[in-house]
Amino acid sequence: MVTPVRVRFAPSPTGFPHVGNIRTALFNWLYARHYKGKFIVRIEDTDVTRKVEGAIEALLDSLKWLGMDWDEGPEVGGKYAPYFQSQRLDIYREMAERLIVQESAYYCYCSSQRLEEMRAEQIKRKQPPGYDRRCRDLTPEERSAKEKEDITPVVRFKTPLSSQTGFRDLIRGEVVFDNSTLDDFVLLKSDGYPTYHLASVVDDHLMAISHVLRAEEWLSSAPRHRLLYQAFGFEPPQFAHLPMILGADRAKLSKRHGAVSITEYKELGYLPETMVNFLALLGWSLDDRTELISRQELVANFSLERVSQTAAIFNQEKLNWMNGVYIRSLSVEDFAERALPFLDKGLPAEVRRPLAKKYVGEIMPLIQERAKTLAEVIGLSQFFFIEDLDYDTSLLISKGMDREAALKALAKSLASLNKREAFDAESLEGVLRPLAAELGLKTGQLFGTLRVAVTGETAAPPLFQTMAVLGKERCLKRIEAAQNKLAKRG
Ligand code: GLU
Repeated sequence: MVTPVRVRFAPSPTGFPHVGNIRTALFNWLYARHYKGKFIVRIEDTDVTRKVEGAIEALLDSLKWLGMDWDEGPEVGGKYAPYFQSQRLDIYREMAERLIVQESAYYCYCSSQRLEEMRAEQIKRKQPPGYDRRCRDLTPEERSAKEKEDITPVVRFKTPLSSQTGFRDLIRGEVVFDNSTLDDFVLLKSDGYPTYHLASVVDDHLMAISHVLRAEEWLSSAPRHRLLYQAFGFEPPQFAHLPMILGADRAKLSKRHGAVSITEYKELGYLPETMVNFLALLGWSLDDRTELISRQELVANFSLERVSQTAAIFNQEKLNWMNGVYIRSLSVEDFAERALPFLDKGLPAEVRRPLAKKYVGEIMPLIQERAKTLAEVIGLSQFFFIEDLDYDTSLLISKGMDREAALKALAKSLASLNKREAFDAESLEGVLRPLAAELGLKTGQLFGTLRVAVTGETAAPPLFQTMAVLGKERCLKRIEAAQNKLAKRG
């Protein structure tokens, strides 16, 4: 019988979700969807001291934003609820006791002070760190003596002292650890909370997890988990440890690589389509070439066989390029709709809200080609919304022109545009091209001057379309303002 695929994303809410976390979530989600299995979200909130306010919401929001729906977990519940480990403390206690009874675990009464001294001594002697097993073989008398002292014990696992623990990792192949390198790790802390090792093994078993796909940093925990499975007599799931993600300089990905939390990528205006595509390629590939791949294709093709063993490199430039591609592939309506909240939030306060949807809809086709992120739309289109432009007046004097020529160009443009009824791109072109000739200017010179006058920028979307969208009144006002500014310059 083939076991149904049940995978889980098991974040600890000790910080905001970063690229690594969400890549792990995505690989689990893709695995579940590819094999028509279940994707489970479990919140591993057992480290009370490191809990970060808002982290759970940010995690769930990131999953929703990227379209990773979960079949069981927070908000949706499920057969194996609760999916918050902090609500399962009784289960872990009972499981820890089970191991005590069968002598696979023991109470340890060592005070934190004693453990610190032990650690310091180990460092001094250059010995490997780890618990020295003082409480492992206490006699019943010693134990009852300890119990009378006012110490809440922890529960430690009785790690076998010799032999080896190995397993076959679905990505890395055979992995073997000497048990002598593992210490008697804690299962249950004195505050009654389980450690990650105990909670993770117990829940993966109770929640019938078939495959554990997680970051490489957990590989060293895998032998401990295997030993726990053995001690409990549980069938272990299959393990797959995903390759690390490094920055372009091959150092572990961190803030200075721009490795901000996923929420920040959203705020910067990266599209979810981009992020899914980009994250999927951090350690997985379809072939040696394909860079652009849709969610459907990912689901159809995802497999662990094509997850690499070597570290993935996070390339910010590639992400920007990819986002530009996805932005350009959106329909104009879709692009405008997605850009609207960014404009609403980012445009200066003087711009009247709510923004006119129709007007935004006219501007967006002019911007779409150039925006690499949705946040860039604000800067690229600001001149469409604000009243007074702020620019260096010398920019009004195009190359090969002097102030007089620019003033004349502005005055003539004003006069001919003023007479026009129609103000669409085509009519504007029909007026302005001949005007350049009339003024003895190259079209580039006249258009350059006008571009600065009406947009305040030297690089902007196509001039006539821009002017048409800005409208006659605004354009004339701006050309007049440009004239006045330049005249004053003296
Ligand atoms: N809670 C761990 C984490 O935050 C989960 C590790 C695992 O998937 O076993 O990464």
